[in-house]
Amino acid sequence: MEVPQDETFREERERFALRWNCEDCALFDEQERCVHGFPTHRHRRSRYLDPSAPILICKEFDLL
Ligand code: SF4
Repeated sequence: MEVPQDETFREERERFALRWNCEDCALFDEQERCVHGFPTHRHRRSRYLDPSAPILICKEFDLL
């Protein structure tokens, strides 16, 4: 499920150092692929440089 970003999310992301991107996931390998074979483009950190990008958290995310 995608959730729209808002100012509260952006402020709390910084304040609580939230982690949900592939770059912070134990399943992201050195070739920048998901070892489970999932597409990564909607979970990568760079996607959220766009403040209008909806939030989509991967159900397989495994914090490093
Ligand atoms: S499990 Fe999800 S968050 Fe982790 S690397 Fe794969 S696609 Fe990214």
